[in-house]
Amino acid sequence: MSRFPSFRDARTVATGSTIDAEICIIGGGAAGIALARALAGTGRRIALLETGGLNYEADVHALGTIENVGRPYHTEGCRLRYLGGTTNHWAATACRCSRAISNIARGSRTAAGRST
Ligand SMILES: Cc1cc2nc3c(=O)[nH]c(=O)nc-3n(C[C@H](O)[C@H](O)[C@H](O)COP(=O)(O)OP(=O)(O)OC[C@H]3O[C@@H](n4cnc5c(N)ncnc54)[C@H](O)[C@@H]3O)c2cc1C
Repeated sequence: MSRFPSFRDARTVATGSTIDAEICIIGGGAAGIALARALAGTGRRIALLETGGLNYEADVHALGTIENVGRPYHTEGCRLRYLGGTTNHWAATACRCSRAISNIARGSRTAAGRST
């Protein structure tokens, strides 16, 4: 199985089709893509389902409209709904990960770096 992903626009998939995967990740933002990359090459069949396309589309973005009932916060345009998710408007800040997170990202089974 290829380590490299293939992209398919679900709008071109026939209604009623089945996507056959062992692991299904919902959301192609920072978390979903990081998880898919960590699992790539494990031999698992992974499907990453992203609600948006490769670029911003107003009608898809509108699906994320929420009513804020808590503290005032700018909700409009904050989260982004296409591949890459909210990272698409990052302010170019990338914090150094803790050792535990780095171990997980490198594929160690535990945050402490032990293989189980
Ligand atoms: C303005 C702004 C600037 C930021 N700048 C930085 C920065 O410089 N550095 C930094 O480290 N962090 C930054 N952050 C925070 C960072 O972007 C988020 O913490 C991070 O993107 C969250 O990742 P996530 O995967 O949880 O969510 P997201 O990145 O929001 O991804 C969620 C994904 O899920 C998809 N989705 C939603 N619903 C569905 C559904 N039903 N089915 C399928 N897919 C779905 C969305 O389209 C989206 O692609 C910033 C945040 C904002 C708002």
